[in-house]
Amino acid sequence: MRAIVLFGSPGSGKGTQAKFLTECLRVPHVSTGDMLRDRIRSGSELGTAVVATMHSGGLVSDQVVNLMVEERLSKPDAAKGFVLDGYPRTLAQAEHLCRWLDGRGVREVVIHLAVDYNVIIGRLTGRRECPRCGTLYNVAFHPPKMDELCDLDGEKLAIRDDDREPVIRERLDAYGHQTRPVLEYYRTVGRRVVEVEASDDPPPIVFQKICQAMEKDDRSKDSR
Ligand code: ADP
Repeated sequence: MRAIVLFGSPGSGKGTQAKFLTECLRVPHVSTGDMLRDRIRSGSELGTAVVATMHSGGLVSDQVVNLMVEERLSKPDAAKGFVLDGYPRTLAQAEHLCRWLDGRGVREVVIHLAVDYNVIIGRLTGRRECPRCGTLYNVAFHPPKMDELCDLDGEKLAIRDDDREPVIRERLDAYGHQTRPVLEYYRTVGRRVVEVEASDDPPPIVFQKICQAMEKDDRSKDSR
């Protein structure tokens, strides 16, 4: 069982690293941001209830997100493990997840992607997404071959609503006040936390660093 919590600020590269990890470990990628956007796209009741909060950059209520994650992790494809991306984001969510995992005898490993604040700002303001296939680009670090067009299907790239500047500020604020303390919580209660410096390296190198850090942590756990 590989229960991984990918932790880091918006723009730290959680989504990209989650894809590498899920392909390598063959476990599902559980991204609360993607799940909430799906609910909005499908016009569900839950989607309608959270759309304003998401577009302002604030956090959706713990109750809604906890239930959504619990349902997802209970599906058979998550029995061998999962990579959580964007959850937990508050202390109440972290406590809820710890209780849920403890109840099943599962020990998670938290991977913290540490990225400098200025790098984060550059990444978030330059982010573009293909509305058709979801491929992510960055005008500064990973531009498409043709200006503003998706390499894969030629669709015009879009800026996600929550990647506009006032919303970015709000998201980083929510991270600083509500989410960063979660890391302290994990350390204080003695859960496994692995630190990975992810400011400067390209994504495949960050992935190598994650794998090395997890192996080292596995070895030290075995010798504890
Ligand atoms: P990012 O990590 O880049 O901010 P996400 O796709 O993870 O992007 O999240 C987008 C938005 O979805 C958040 O700003 C928030 O409104 C909502 N959201 C996602 N995950 C959670 C969560 N665990 N708790 C509350 N709100 C969430």
